[in-house]
Amino acid sequence: MTGESNGNLESCFKIPEIKFTKLFINGEFVNSISGKTFESIDSRTEEVIANISEGDKEDVDLAVQVARQAFDNGPWPRLPGSERRNIMLKFADLIDENLEEMAALDTLDAANLYSFGKAVQIHSGAELIRYYAGAADKVHGETLKMSRDLHGYTLVEPIGVVGHIIPWNFPTQMFVMKVGPALAAGCTMVVKPAEQTPLSALYFAYLAKQAGVPDGVINVVTGFGPSVGAAISSHMDIDMVSFTGSTVTGHKVMEAAATSNLKVVSLELGGKSPFIVFNDADVDTIAPLALTACLFNQGQICVAGSRLFVQEGIYDKFLNKLLEEVAKWVVGDPFDPNVHQGPQIDKKQYDKVLSYIEHGKREGATLLTGGKPLDRKGYYIEPTIFTDVTDDMTIAKDEIFGPVMSVMKFKSIEEVIKRANKTKYGLAAGIMTNDMNIANTVSRSLKAGTIWINCYFAFDNDLAVGGYKSSGFGKDMGMDAFHKYFQLKSIATPIYNSPWL
Ligand code: NAD
Repeated sequence: MTGESNGNLESCFKIPEIKFTKLFINGEFVNSISGKTFESIDSRTEEVIANISEGDKEDVDLAVQVARQAFDNGPWPRLPGSERRNIMLKFADLIDENLEEMAALDTLDAANLYSFGKAVQIHSGAELIRYYAGAADKVHGETLKMSRDLHGYTLVEPIGVVGHIIPWNFPTQMFVMKVGPALAAGCTMVVKPAEQTPLSALYFAYLAKQAGVPDGVINVVTGFGPSVGAAISSHMDIDMVSFTGSTVTGHKVMEAAATSNLKVVSLELGGKSPFIVFNDADVDTIAPLALTACLFNQGQICVAGSRLFVQEGIYDKFLNKLLEEVAKWVVGDPFDPNVHQGPQIDKKQYDKVLSYIEHGKREGATLLTGGKPLDRKGYYIEPTIFTDVTDDMTIAKDEIFGPVMSVMKFKSIEEVIKRANKTKYGLAAGIMTNDMNIANTVSRSLKAGTIWINCYFAFDNDLAVGGYKSSGFGKDMGMDAFHKYFQLKSIATPIYNSPWL
């Protein structure tokens, strides 16, 4: 029986005051042009946290105009990299100084675990800003050895006005992953947080201004995808759109970019990642890791190891250990430090996950544990494990984005490589073995952007993440993400004032 926490939490945290609810344009918090607002809902209680200004196409137009002015005529792209670096370092310090409040905002808004936010997530966000601050004064072009008497060189220039469209699962991480490298590159931007989680993006914009980021460089337009998101991806005066979200929306963003001004597109999309356990793996260590790899953040993580492949020699032992571990997995209020899993983000996502569980049952998978919502207010669902899952079942193919694991047995290395790759996605994979031959063979054969061997969720500022296949293209994190916010200009001139034709 999975644990459930209902404890008195008053001593663990302080519900933060919601200070920022309006759009952030040109350094000011402003109402949307229509004056409309929408409700941000607390998924723990189903109650309204705050009424947020609802932006629309006209607000995007205004934000883009301001960002364009800041790019074409403002100081930010023209500052020496070292000055951008210093402002970004101040920004990172302010994030650290407000760490507890920011962690609480993400728990209220996104149901991210408060203990994780406080201990890891917000500080990691500040660290990522510092990582890119360190890159701001290390932007180099090349001198070219031309085939004639020409002096050739390349200039690396910031790409311009960037539209960032981000999802709700980790609002802080998503914001800093997009804004950090673009800021360091000297871009200006319009950020659209997910409608479910606008709070921390507005707080970040406020802190950036306090740190000295000039007005107009970071603009935040809150609102919905089909209005604000679509207006960004189809805008004629945005030079690049950097999107993270579902593959379905990724198609729409790319289409809008293609049919407007052919802006540069970067897409971080969905996944259905395999977590592969070989016979020689240590069951006691790897079973709890497999559980976390699938269930962390309520299963709402793009790289979730939602397809668990276990080799036949340890299959039964592994399942027993998995059951033992899931019995200790506590579902409850994400502010509670003893809780492992909070509520799903909203009613829509909650209904979607429950309907996938019904699909699994109907299509003949065995429900090993879980499968039901919790009998309490809020969008809580039991951690759910299916066995006897076949590759063609809906729960093995679709990204569920919920606490649902599909367990599958395999015999040989060749078989598991083929089955692990049998998905339209290619975001991440885990390989659990102490045999280097197996680890090398499998890691080179899997079509996925990130492979973790004997670990999972081993993120690092320097480790680029991004997809193969329908998981998208263009990296976040690492120096690859920094370089995508530039474009290359080639310059050539005769060396000796000599004829060059
Ligand atoms: P989503 O695609 O529904 O929404 C993402 C963002 O796009 C939101 O801000 C939304 O308002 C906006 N949007 C919606 N319709 C739009 C449109 N027509 N035009 C432009 N923008 C639009 O995704 P979600 O449900 O918020 O997030 C979950 C998805 O994100 C999952 O598929 C997950 O795998 C993916 N994700 C991927 C990564 C990664 O790094 N690859 C990271 C986190 C989440």
